[in-house]
Amino acid sequence: MINRLTLIGVGLIGGSLARALRDAGHVQEIVGYGRGLANLQRAVELGVVDRIETSLAAAVNGADMVVLATPVGAMAEILGAIAPYLAKDAVVTDVGSVKGAVVTAARAALGGRFSNFVPGHPIAGTERSGVESSFASLYVGRRVVLTPLPETRPEALARVRAMWQAAGADVVDMSIEHHDQVLAATSHLPHLLAYALVDMLAQLNDRHEIFSYAAGGFRDFTRIASSDPVMWRDISLANRDAIVEMLKRYRTELDGLIKAVAAGNGGSLQELFARAKAARDALMQNDQKKD
Ligand code: NAP
Repeated sequence: MINRLTLIGVGLIGGSLARALRDAGHVQEIVGYGRGLANLQRAVELGVVDRIETSLAAAVNGADMVVLATPVGAMAEILGAIAPYLAKDAVVTDVGSVKGAVVTAARAALGGRFSNFVPGHPIAGTERSGVESSFASLYVGRRVVLTPLPETRPEALARVRAMWQAAGADVVDMSIEHHDQVLAATSHLPHLLAYALVDMLAQLNDRHEIFSYAAGGFRDFTRIASSDPVMWRDISLANRDAIVEMLKRYRTELDGLIKAVAAGNGGSLQELFARAKAARDALMQNDQKKD
């Protein structure tokens, strides 16, 4: 049970966690902090937070759990600003989509309190932003990855694990490096590809006609290009090595595709498509079994 939860960044991810914890009766009081007053006031109206604060020092005062749910690029500065005001046993955690850069920032900012920091990442979300788009069931049956370090206090880890379990999530532990490599492949690369495809098509002279014919396939492939640009700028910078590695691999795959199409090599195209179809069908079947 959390007595006072401070949520820094009351958007889709933070707002959904707050709603889920409230529904589960896992929290007494939720304090919200962000930069835009309109979003925070809406969070109070919707009952997502109990009250808001406009200074970080006041926001974390007396909190036993502090959750950072802003874009990852803002986290270093926020951690530095809250460090002097944290209660002795306050647990601090984050929801950032990249773990290495956030952990480096937390280690530098929190000093002796670093053992109370538990890095986390819910593998759940949508392309929408802000508290209006948050919903309590977002984490039900979804994975949350925690990447604890040898110095992480077991009590802090246990409290963050219990928080996510109360929100309905399936919590798994992973190393920071493995997390950042896996997510570069399964999440970061597809987002960059979707942005690049839409951007490339939007620059064509006949883009209006092209987009007017956009049907299911195009919409499926590009939904995530509606995601928040600041969030994705920050993720791209924070996980740059792993993302560049994946983009290069994809470029090699595209080069192969160009060659096969240009040469009219139907055999190798069909082989590639069949391999990819089998891999995706197996993935979907596994997902259905889990549901
Ligand atoms: P969001 O809906 O845009 O919410 C982010 C919130 O942070 C906003 O309410 C924003 O409010 C606040 N904020 C931004 N900069 C801030 C700053 N410097 N100081 C204080 N508050 C700040 O974004 P989200 O989708 O919830 O994403 C939040 C985090 O979750 C990101 O780190 C992202 O990597 C991670 N994540 C996202 C997804 C996803 O699918 N969306 C999934 C897993 C993890 P103001 O602009 O008013 O300050």
